[in-house]
Amino acid sequence: MVELAFNNKTINKTPKNRFLPREWMEEEIVTLNNEPSEEPWCSSCHNFTDYKRKWITYPRADLDGGTYSETVEVPHCVHCGSVMFDLSNCRKFVWGVRLCAYAFLIVVSLLCFFLFDITATGMTIWFLCLLVTILLCKLPVKSREALQSHSDYQKLSKLSS
Ligand SMILES: [Zn+2]
Repeated sequence: MVELAFNNKTINKTPKNRFLPREWMEEEIVTLNNEPSEEPWCSSCHNFTDYKRKWITYPRADLDGGTYSETVEVPHCVHCGSVMFDLSNCRKFVWGVRLCAYAFLIVVSLLCFFLFDITATGMTIWFLCLLVTILLCKLPVKSREALQSHSDYQKLSKLSS
């Protein structure tokens, strides 16, 4: 409360901000903190271990057909040295891939069962597409491993407490 009142006083005192519209004042606030809200997870140690950040350079393609290198900050586990994962990104990636796979299966099912007559060939194609969907869902191996080890860790910590 005290801090809020102090902040209100300082804003009111500065003549520059006094007559600015509210939207303009909100635009002035720039968040410089790009740190992830969640700690990185180590799949090998099965814990939120201490980490150090390493810079890794990846080649990227630009719109002109050329390439450029992009440097990305990747957390590495201090104990085992393996790459650590941001669990929220893993969740988004796994669900994105699953949504694409399910959408693919829905389209194929509509084609095989409603657009064309049900035949042995159509059923074979649908079955092959079902296998492709299952394989697509299994594709983000590292992300799924990280999420699985994190859920195991949560179950263990619930049991021990
Ligand atoms: Zn580790």
